[in-house]
Amino acid sequence: MSLRLYDSLTRRLRAFKTVEAGRVRMYNCGPTVYDRAHIGNFRAFTWEDLLRRYLRFKGYDVCQVMNLTDVDDRTIAAASARGVPLADVTDPVIEMFLEDWDTLGLEEPEHRPRATRFVDGMIRLVEALSERGLTYESEGSVYFAIGRSPEYGRLAGIDAKGLTAAGRAAGDEEYDKDDPRDFVLWKGGDRDADGAVAVWDSPWGPGRPGWHLECSAMAMHHLGETLDIHTGGVDNLFPHHTNEIAQSEGVTGKKFSEFWLHAEHLLVEGRKMSKSLGNCFTIPELVDRGHAPSAIRYLLLSGHYRAQLNFTFDGLEAAAKAVTRLYEFRDRVRAAGEAETDASADLEDAATRARAAFEAAMDDDLNVSEALSAVFGLVREANHLLDRVHPRAPAGAETALAVIDAFDRVFGVLAVRGRESSGGDDELVAWATARIGERERARKNRDFARADAIRAELEARGVIVEDLAEFTRLRMGGRTIQVPRPLGAAR
Ligand code: AMP
Ligand code: ZN
Repeated sequence: MSLRLYDSLTRRLRAFKTVEAGRVRMYNCGPTVYDRAHIGNFRAFTWEDLLRRYLRFKGYDVCQVMNLTDVDDRTIAAASARGVPLADVTDPVIEMFLEDWDTLGLEEPEHRPRATRFVDGMIRLVEALSERGLTYESEGSVYFAIGRSPEYGRLAGIDAKGLTAAGRAAGDEEYDKDDPRDFVLWKGGDRDADGAVAVWDSPWGPGRPGWHLECSAMAMHHLGETLDIHTGGVDNLFPHHTNEIAQSEGVTGKKFSEFWLHAEHLLVEGRKMSKSLGNCFTIPELVDRGHAPSAIRYLLLSGHYRAQLNFTFDGLEAAAKAVTRLYEFRDRVRAAGEAETDASADLEDAATRARAAFEAAMDDDLNVSEALSAVFGLVREANHLLDRVHPRAPAGAETALAVIDAFDRVFGVLAVRGRESSGGDDELVAWATARIGERERARKNRDFARADAIRAELEARGVIVEDLAEFTRLRMGGRTIQVPRPLGAAR
């Protein structure tokens, strides 16, 4: 099966292919670290994590780069307002960002460049663009002349000639341009001015890099001139990514990225996020209200990335239930796999079908709804099979367990859920299940003293054991798992 992804540049679903066989070079526009990231930002980041994980699942070696925008208008405004150096604002925000990243169980990218550490490379890009005649200087600032870039605007589907109004609407503040459509590469600034918190020397005098230039420089530094995938939220299409293409391709003359992927925005209770509505929730705000990170992660991943995602508190409750259902199901098949029971092909069949449907759905531009329905279809079918005394199938249980493990390598919610149960809980379940298997063998050999000793051992670790007709029920902390008993076992 092969992966197809929707490329925003060509506006088509295209078969995914890498520049270098087996290796994906991916750049994600990271957070602007002027304030703690909100759940909207984390919708983008969590989806990028899903994409990373799915690429790895498909066998690719992934090199993922997500930058930290630690110098731009917003970070500078925050530092100037407080009269502190830029890093006094950005360092703590980066720390919070990494904390939230960890809370949601996102995998660590290979590189997390900070823009302020790459200013030299940015200056070199401006020099290279100047040598190619694509820039002009005005009052200490350097601009990109989009009139000299024939392909400009293709990504956003805009005709560069009609861009005047859009460029202004995008909030450009530079009035020294030859053409209002042009964008700044290097913004001249006075080192001694009041509130100057971010100024570097350059061949054009003191100043700072433009935001778009930062991403071009960091992406090419770590990933080379042509990336496989570049992502961001839809708000990045224009002007940010449009300008990144103009700059990068202006320097190299090569295609900047093979695929451009964009995630739609997150809404909260049906409304656009905004500070004035008070709905820009952060991860710790939700956790403080008692919501589990695993449920937040699940909800953020549960809609297709190209559709807006409506984040609601009802949805969060439903997400928590869905995660628990999967979590308990995994315990149950684990236990079924440990028991010595009759083999049956039914569970094996259901699991094999679910696994194929899961991968086919994810291959289809990461169709998570279909992928989840394949997994929950298996949960339903397998629970039904396991509810019956016959047939219970160790071989099938192993296949079902492999499907859940595959699911979680990609979705990563059960791993987070595991951390939420009392520490080491997963380990306790595995251990208790193994001890129950041992106890059944002792009973079969009529070694009741040993069986009782094992029960005492379990109870010493807080595991309550109840023998039912078909199951041994184990209760530990808030969890209950049922270990199927071998057919004809002594009671
Ligand atoms: P920023 O910190 O504003 O530079 O944004 C970081 C990332 O979050 C970018 O990829 C944005 O496109 C994305 N983003 C911002 N707001 C939202 C939202 N409401 N929903 C989804 N993604 C968003
Ligand atoms: Zn960017």
